[in-house]
Amino acid sequence: MSNRIFNFSAGPAMLPTEVLEKSAVALVDYQGKGFGIAEVSHRGKEFEAVNDEAMTLCKKLLGLGDTHDVLFLQGGATMLFTTIAMNFLHGSADYLVSGEWSKKAAGAAKDLGKANVVGTTEASNFDHSTPTAEWKLNEGADYFHVCSNETVHGHRLPAWPKHPNLIVDASSEFMSRPHPVGDCALVYGGAQKNLGPAGVVLTIVRKDMYAKQKKVPSKLWSFKDQAEGRSMVNTPPTFGIYILLEVFRWLDAKGGLAAMEKINETKAKAIYDAIDASNGFYKGTVSVKEQRSRMNVTYTLPSEELTEEFIKTASKAGMVGLKGYRTVGGIRASIYNAMPVEGAQALATFMKDFASKKS
Ligand code: PMP
Repeated sequence: MSNRIFNFSAGPAMLPTEVLEKSAVALVDYQGKGFGIAEVSHRGKEFEAVNDEAMTLCKKLLGLGDTHDVLFLQGGATMLFTTIAMNFLHGSADYLVSGEWSKKAAGAAKDLGKANVVGTTEASNFDHSTPTAEWKLNEGADYFHVCSNETVHGHRLPAWPKHPNLIVDASSEFMSRPHPVGDCALVYGGAQKNLGPAGVVLTIVRKDMYAKQKKVPSKLWSFKDQAEGRSMVNTPPTFGIYILLEVFRWLDAKGGLAAMEKINETKAKAIYDAIDASNGFYKGTVSVKEQRSRMNVTYTLPSEELTEEFIKTASKAGMVGLKGYRTVGGIRASIYNAMPVEGAQALATFMKDFASKKS
C-alpha cells in the first residue's frame, strides 16, 4: 500500500500497515477457510483461539503472571472509568487531576461517591501535572486513579506512581514503553490509539480486586464475571480483538515494549528538538520538560493564521491530523507506536522549513 500518508491523529489513530494488511485478509478469508474471522461465532474454535492467543501475548508483552487477568471490554475508556467507580468506590477514592481525561474520570466518580482530588493543575490549563511531592493522598482511599498520559495536554507521568491500589488510564500510551502493570490493581486503555480500532478497551485486573467489587446491575460491568467469562459475558467485538492480536504479534516481532520505547524516544526527540531549536517560533505547551509526552506532542505557533497555514501546508505534504484539541489550540502531533520514525522526521523537517520561511 504505497498511498498511505503520515497520519498524526490522536485517535482513532494510524495502525501498522502490516497489521492492517493481515487483518484485511483475515476479514475476507480466514486461514483459507472460505469465511472471514468477523463472520464466525465467538464461541467457535477459530475465535476462541484468537481470544486465547491475544490474552497470552498481551501477558507476555506486559510481563504479567497469574496475578492478573486480561480483559477485552467494550464501551470505551469512558465506560471503564465509570465502571471502576461503580465497582470499587466504597468510601472515597483518590484522583490525580492532570488534564481533560483524568478530570472526566474524577467527575464520573463524583457522580457515584466521594472522589478526593489529590492534586490539580487546572488553574494553569493543565500545562503539567502536580509533582508527586505535592499529592495529598488519603490513607484509607479505596484506590488511587491516575491518567499516565494526558492525550489532550501532551504530558505524561515520567514514572507510574507506587500505590497498593493504583488504577491507571493508560489509553494513549499503552504498550509504548514498559509499564509496571504487575504492580497495579487495574490498568485500562481504549484501543484506538496504540493498540487497534475503537470498540475494545484493554483492561488488566489484579485478581484480588474481585473480592472488593460492589454489586453492579449487570454482569457486563462486573470485572469478576467478565474475567470468568473470558470477556464473553455477551458477544465481544471479535474483529477488534483480532486486530489487537495482530498488533501484539507485530509488537512481539519488533522486540517488545523496551524496543518500542527506544523507537518512540527517537521520534519524540526529533519533534521536540525542532520545537526547542526554533527560537520561540514553536512553543511547547507543557511547562515541565521532563513530563513531555512521547505520544502526543503539543505546541503552538505565533498566530492562528500561521497555525492554519501550517496545517494546510503539512496536509499537502502528506501529513494530516495535526490540529490541536480545541481547549489547547495549536498543533498536536500524535506519534503512537504505528507512526514510523520517518514520519516524525518528516514532520520535524517540515517544521524547520516552515519556521525559516515564516519567522
Ligand atoms: N482516556 C484517555 C487518556 C483518552 O485519550 C481518551 C480518548 N481520547 C479517553 C480516556 C476516552 O476514551 P473513549 O472515547 O474510548 O471513551
